[in-house]
Amino acid sequence: MSDREPIPEIPLRMAPESSKAKALVDGSYGHQEAGDRHKLGGDPDWIQGDETPECPECGEPMELYGQLDHLGSVEGLKDGGMIYVFLCRKCYITESVLQFH
Ligand SMILES: [Zn+2]
Repeated sequence: MSDREPIPEIPLRMAPESSKAKALVDGSYGHQEAGDRHKLGGDPDWIQGDETPECPECGEPMELYGQLDHLGSVEGLKDGGMIYVFLCRKCYITESVLQFH
């Protein structure tokens, strides 16, 4: 594990600019409302069980760099999925994990 301080949880707020993006984010684009669990750092908000990856280089558990919530059922992460991005700050290697309901 890195001896650096863990990344504190920083919620990310969406700021859509185009009308199409705004409609998608507020749920009026014809499907479920986009999630609001986007964040940097902190601990993963696992939908299923803990799948924290180990660094393929040093074997240590990787740190959550951020998680990206779904954008509704049509845009890819069906049924409220989430993408978790992990980082080994010692080896500068990233891994991602996808979970959904
Ligand atoms: Zn590593």
